[in-house]
Amino acid sequence: MTDGGAAPAAVVPTYRGPVAAGDLGWTLTHEHLFVLSPELDREYPHPEWDADLAVERAVAGLEELWNLGVRTVVDLTVPGLGRDTSLVARVAARVRVNLVASTGWYADEVLPPYFRTHGPGRLVGGPEPLVEMFRRDVTEGIGDSGVRAGMLKVVTDAPGMTADITRVMDAAATVHVETGVPVTTHSNPHTRNGLDQAGFLTERGVDPAHVVIGHSGDSDDLDYLLALLDTGVTLGMDRFGMAHTGSDEQRVAVVLDLLDRGYAQQLVLSHDSAYFSRVTPPSWRQVNTPHWTHDHLSRRIVPQLLERGARQEDLHTMMITNPRRLLAPARVEARR
Ligand SMILES: [Zn+2]
Repeated sequence: MTDGGAAPAAVVPTYRGPVAAGDLGWTLTHEHLFVLSPELDREYPHPEWDADLAVERAVAGLEELWNLGVRTVVDLTVPGLGRDTSLVARVAARVRVNLVASTGWYADEVLPPYFRTHGPGRLVGGPEPLVEMFRRDVTEGIGDSGVRAGMLKVVTDAPGMTADITRVMDAAATVHVETGVPVTTHSNPHTRNGLDQAGFLTERGVDPAHVVIGHSGDSDDLDYLLALLDTGVTLGMDRFGMAHTGSDEQRVAVVLDLLDRGYAQQLVLSHDSAYFSRVTPPSWRQVNTPHWTHDHLSRRIVPQLLERGARQEDLHTMMITNPRRLLAPARVEARR
């Protein structure tokens, strides 16, 4: 695979401003800092949530990651998961790791009622709000933060490509084609719907070299994974330590198998972890998923991969070269 048409001096937006794609270094491509639920948080606060404490925890964690060699973390917390750019900005100001923000919408079946009445042909009308939102986040910045989104995130889970999910994916494809910003997905590999996502996005002109089908590492269905790889997309083997969706033993075995088959250039590794998530709060994680932390790959999985036959070069490809290719905006002029 080539570099998929990245611009020659591509830069990637981060919380601290643009960073040359070549300087991103070791990158975790699918992570979270804080997964919240603003309506619940406002009036039914979670007993374990303390914003100041969460910020301290994230700062300490990210500084530790820096010491382990991690240089960039992509925060895929989009609206629907409680994205709070000003809170993450407080963390970004105090750490050396680059943080990349994202835009998109997290829903597995339906959008909130606002979207039912807004958009072309709908009750209130106006332009498609999802396109307006994603475009603004990518080109101008999120809210009044001045932080531009460096990735688009879409979700297809067990309900599949419902009308609302299709609408989100269509908006993401539109903004990708306009701006070149990469697309990453939350997929459900047990229903093999990464193939639907890859097909839908590429049909709309999205460059597969800038697409990650997330959560592919939850599967050990080689027929499915190889079919996905055939489309040119990259697989997110992105939930190391998330014991309730699959064992690390299986995740490692699948990565080693795909490396053996020569697919290093289409794999990225990450955790999908968080410093706080209302969905699976810290006390639950401590008991049930003790290794589901942002340092798990560096401390345990990478050494294991190397011991079991992965080459240093493969790790470099999956953790540095591929994120650089993915995150560098696709060259859009060529495709207009
Ligand atoms: Zn995630």
